[in-house]
Amino acid sequence: MPAKHATATIDTICNTILSYYPEAKLDLVRKAYDFADHAHKGQMRSSGDPYVIHPMDVAQTLAELRLDIPSVVTGLLHDTVEDTHATLEIVEKEFGKDIAELVDGVTKLSKITFKTSEEKQAENFRKMILAMSKDIRVILVKLADRLNNMRTLEHLAPHKQKNIAQETLDIYAPIANRLGISWMKLELEDLCLRYLHPDAYYKLAQRVTKKKRERDKYTEEVTSILEEKLKEYDVHASVAGRAKHFYSIYKKMERRNVDFDQIHDMIAFRIVTDNITECYKALGVIHATYKPVPGRFKDYIAMPKANGYQSLHTTVIGPHGERVEIQIRTQDMHQVADAGIAAHWKYKEGKFDSRSRENIEWVHRLLEWNKDLADPNEFLETVKIDLFAEDVFVFTPTGEVKELSYGATPLDFAYAVHTDVGNRCVGAKVNGKIVPLKHRLKSGDTIEVITSPTQTPSKDWLKIVKSSRAKAKIRAFIKTQERERARELGRDLLEKALRPYNRTLSKLDRSGELVKAGQQLHCRTPEELYIALGYGRSLPEHVLEHLIPKEEREAFQREKPKPEEESFLKRVFASARKRSNSKNAIIVSNLDEVLIRFARCCNPLPGDSIVGFITRGRGVTVHTATCTKGIDSDAERRVEVRWNLQEKANISRIVRVRVLSGDEPGLLALMSQTISSCGVNIASANIRTTKDQKAIAIFEIQVMDTAQLQKVMSALEAKKGVIAVERVRS
Ligand code: MN
Repeated sequence: MPAKHATATIDTICNTILSYYPEAKLDLVRKAYDFADHAHKGQMRSSGDPYVIHPMDVAQTLAELRLDIPSVVTGLLHDTVEDTHATLEIVEKEFGKDIAELVDGVTKLSKITFKTSEEKQAENFRKMILAMSKDIRVILVKLADRLNNMRTLEHLAPHKQKNIAQETLDIYAPIANRLGISWMKLELEDLCLRYLHPDAYYKLAQRVTKKKRERDKYTEEVTSILEEKLKEYDVHASVAGRAKHFYSIYKKMERRNVDFDQIHDMIAFRIVTDNITECYKALGVIHATYKPVPGRFKDYIAMPKANGYQSLHTTVIGPHGERVEIQIRTQDMHQVADAGIAAHWKYKEGKFDSRSRENIEWVHRLLEWNKDLADPNEFLETVKIDLFAEDVFVFTPTGEVKELSYGATPLDFAYAVHTDVGNRCVGAKVNGKIVPLKHRLKSGDTIEVITSPTQTPSKDWLKIVKSSRAKAKIRAFIKTQERERARELGRDLLEKALRPYNRTLSKLDRSGELVKAGQQLHCRTPEELYIALGYGRSLPEHVLEHLIPKEEREAFQREKPKPEEESFLKRVFASARKRSNSKNAIIVSNLDEVLIRFARCCNPLPGDSIVGFITRGRGVTVHTATCTKGIDSDAERRVEVRWNLQEKANISRIVRVRVLSGDEPGLLALMSQTISSCGVNIASANIRTTKDQKAIAIFEIQVMDTAQLQKVMSALEAKKGVIAVERVRS
């Protein structure tokens, strides 16, 4: 464990580096020291020390973590861009791109402050910090920085002490733990306790000091018993008792809600062996000597912790009937337990060797990386890693962190805040700049959603959003909106159908007749009935059967004047449409079973590209995409429609075909025969001659789609005497 509070000098830093990397070229380190010393000239810490002491202590810690030279240099420079006249450009010019990027990363992290200690927030925040530091060295420099700030916290005002200590306990100690640097985690936690709960801290410290002699005696006693027993069974191991950290005692007291009193509560014993077999042998000896406490044995050798920690943990009933905690591990495991990531750091020419197998495996395990690595060398080009490749962490304007999926847009963010915010989102400001809705968010962005009370979600939004939550909310909104449209449509249809009988919906609703009629059609409420009508699941005539007495309906049918203008042609149309089962011929996007009507103006045929328009009281009218009447219609009523190809066999549509030919006898019969031979029915035929000795024949034929129509037209064109064949559009 590094010595605490010993002020570093440039020489101690250099010597520490040389201890693990003897060939190190230290010019850059010395240059960084001069640069920092010059940049911070005149600045003081709260303690009254020259400011440069701080970056030097940080660099010293980084050297003790056995980090590479760029990391140590970054430690020296880490506050220059933030706090002095030095700029990132100058740092890059003097120290290169690699170091400039590291300094920039640390500067960015330092600008973020954590505001609440809520559990989920803290976790998101930790993840965000890891995600923002694509280079793991940035986190290590930040940790060393925080450690030094915590060690010198006494010089700050009490409210500042508490804020910094809380943030350290919530964010940085867990990160140190995750990286497996347990000495740093423990030291940070004890320092946090001192500032967050000074009473508890000083009470513990007092008791530990007071009982020192008693404690030493107890430690010695247990140690020698254990050593003797291990020797007896021929296990090579060293035994040591150590005082537990205050924070872990404090947590235990809080958890069990007991006061700290007994000596053994302060001590944990550690047995260090030569190899794994000896570990299990030692465990056997301990359990044979002292009765183990049930449920307290943990085998982290067989199942290491995510950060690589390995040990056997057990608690036994000791010589005086007290609980004794014992950890058993090998020498190698011991190093990992203490130094974590640094124990596995392998260097090549003073740089973190990203190609070393140990390093790759270590980082891999550290990150609990689940994906198969296609090329491990590429994966760790330097130590640059995307720790949470699938997540993006962003801020609300109040500093709350939201976790979103990779590729998330301001719309995803808006829906993460609140459904209403999502539904009314018209745009967003990212870091103060207005961006389009499809803008991709990055970790660390601050998002401000712009809403409008008149905004509503559109189907296009489904293509913009990434998160399933936002998609579900948009779909739900569209569905509700369509139900509402169907409800209005259904209401109109019924109102209109009732008009000839001098009934109004409101009267029928008040009298309860409407509810009864609805129930006959399996609709519990009038609203449900309107919706069924709007979607075309029920027809107004069927509802009338339950609302209007039979005699009245029959009387109306008899009185109904037969429209004189109704031609034979129209009757054909009407009957053909009934047969054609138009309901299933068309799929209207997002609307189930809507009432379909084909526009007479362009008379679409399966195969034609089509558009639909919602028509009050008449469901959806389908036009061909090129129909001018369709184009002139109100764009807001436009809905996407397409032909239901599964139903193709059941679709038949009446189309008019005009044939221009020479006026020759028998031509009409020939043409009729030609059409029939294509397997197509003729609904009507009409022929007239022109002044210039030509004949124009108009056939109403029943076809399935454009392909069949084309076949008929080609067959007609091929006949001798036929001049031109065309489909009649209106
Ligand atoms: Mn600093």
